[in-house]
Amino acid sequence: MNSEAEPTFEGAGGMVEADGQTCRKSTGTMQPELSDAELLALELDLFCAECDRPELNEGDDGHTSSRSAESCCTGQGTVEDICSGNEQSSNQSEQKSEMPPEGSSTKRRKQDERIPLERFGRKYLNVTDLSRQVWCEQQVVYGLELPHIEQLREEVPVVKAGSCLHLARELEIQDIVPINVESREDSWAVKIFNLLSMIQFLQAGERVRELPVFGELEGIFLVGVVDELCYNSKGELELCELKTRGQRTYPSAAQRKSHLFQVNIYKLLFEAMIKGQLNKETITDHLHLRTEQPFSSEILMHAQKVGFSINTFGDLLDLMLLNLTYAEIPNIDTMKIEYCYQADASLIGTEVVYFEEEWVKSELKHYCSFWKGQREAKGVDIEEAWKCRSCDFADICEWRQSKAEEATQKNRANRSK
Ligand code: SF4
Repeated sequence: MNSEAEPTFEGAGGMVEADGQTCRKSTGTMQPELSDAELLALELDLFCAECDRPELNEGDDGHTSSRSAESCCTGQGTVEDICSGNEQSSNQSEQKSEMPPEGSSTKRRKQDERIPLERFGRKYLNVTDLSRQVWCEQQVVYGLELPHIEQLREEVPVVKAGSCLHLARELEIQDIVPINVESREDSWAVKIFNLLSMIQFLQAGERVRELPVFGELEGIFLVGVVDELCYNSKGELELCELKTRGQRTYPSAAQRKSHLFQVNIYKLLFEAMIKGQLNKETITDHLHLRTEQPFSSEILMHAQKVGFSINTFGDLLDLMLLNLTYAEIPNIDTMKIEYCYQADASLIGTEVVYFEEEWVKSELKHYCSFWKGQREAKGVDIEEAWKCRSCDFADICEWRQSKAEEATQKNRANRSK
């Protein structure tokens, strides 16, 4: 079993989400003379315009890459040593190990009778998997089928810069302590330690950052990390999501939609947790975790240090569920997204987010139906063909090709009338 270092958090809790939000400015006005079909058929290289695209990973989920960018932030904060991996990364690699070889096509997907969740070896989805679906579902599928291309995207300098900003914020209020893990249960224990410690801070009226949230929605286990929760001047619990931008501009409406969706899901997950709606079986069944699994010595040492009397993963789950059930933490009253400019960390602006329960639940149902095999993946609608210009998979995208052909045929038919 591989031993991996996992971060856990100590001190006056809180963390920041790293999100490599990037992008280049898009322009519906740049090629006004082009039809949608022509636009879709053009080679990517012909476009030099910059356009918005979704952040590559959620802090929670994007945290993985954010943490791996620690060298950029050396010397900031109080951390002596930041671990090289984290729970997310270990779980991702674990999940990726079951992925099919690259080169999958629509035909091959159709021949595979497994539902996408199984086909991609996913026991759970990250909230960012869902929010990226809002941008383009087909792109998410290609990212899973061709992980080496996805990895290249994560190496983009603007993404790394965003990660550094998040990490710097995180280090403002808490230390990161590396913990070696030896099993998947150890990995989840680290997440639960963080959660338990943050519950205490929230109960004491303090600010927390990078709060893990998880639970089952639409029959799928979802995992995320809330950038920040704190009490505002009115004493209301406030969620704040940090998004960093490569340009000093607000994101496009399309990108903002995925952000709104993301924070709305956080609220659903968080509130289900504090209302005691999580249960042991849901966690162990979805994640295939063993309640009887003993912890590694390092996990046990940490548990002892923070005063937890536990031996197995089942003990820790019981402790967590008890704490969540009896924690007197209010619902999230207000939500906002802070957009920051990567170059100097200055604030571009803040967007207040309203919780739209009906909308988020119906969107969630729609996006989850793909993972459950109830429908095929969809690419962007022809009106949003501009998104394809900045897509790493544009050259191989069958959806894009079929839409281009469709539009060409439609144009021909119109001309011949
Ligand atoms: S080329 Fe367009 S439709 Fe295809 S994956 Fe990329 S953004 Fe989606």
